[in-house]
Amino acid sequence: MKIVVFDFDGTITYKSPNLWKAIWTSCGFDVGAGSIYEKYYKDYKAGKYDYKEWCDKTCTLFRERNFSHDKLLQLAKNFNIIDGLEETVKYLKGRGVKLHILSGSIIEGIKAALGESEKYFDNICANTMIFDKDGIVEEILSTKFDYVGKAEYIKMLCDKFDVLPEDIVFVGNDDNDDFVFQSGCHTICLNPNKADYQDKEKWHFLIEKSSNFKDLLPIFERL
Ligand SMILES: [Mg+2]
Repeated sequence: MKIVVFDFDGTITYKSPNLWKAIWTSCGFDVGAGSIYEKYYKDYKAGKYDYKEWCDKTCTLFRERNFSHDKLLQLAKNFNIIDGLEETVKYLKGRGVKLHILSGSIIEGIKAALGESEKYFDNICANTMIFDKDGIVEEILSTKFDYVGKAEYIKMLCDKFDVLPEDIVFVGNDDNDDFVFQSGCHTICLNPNKADYQDKEKWHFLIEKSSNFKDLLPIFERL
């Protein structure tokens, strides 16, 4: 094992609100059945538009509601980082393993939530929010590496660091992580949300319920 790539929402966070959903709610939008929030998600999943367009459409609505940089940082405070994160990443660093976060969330929110622990990660790949001079969101620079793109990120790491897919371990929990196995890396499903976790081709290891990241250690020790 040379590189470990972690998803963020629901993997590094525990019993925490999803940041996107929290932004929608804070802008006064409903996120339940029949909402625009749900419609955009379903339209993207149905292939009506691509990820960038999904982010652009979302950004337009957030801007109309004056979603600000301050509000983003305030919402990020509601993230609860899973117990045992620091011990686990320190163990991996001690083995000389490179650590990445690969997320469909927003980089600044992730950094705010991680605090001091950010220093253990070699890269954080996610969406970026751009704010205008008044601190209101202006643009969302969409990541190319969500959903199917998560597998592409693993392949890119193989090329960049001249390692094999089996030298890489991915830890995730949701349906946007279901494609990572296509890269050939090891996959661990932790605290599954909408991930297809019973499919053993997609998910090689499963920890169905855990409140402590150290539960990953016995698996890491085998890889
Ligand atoms: Mg997740």
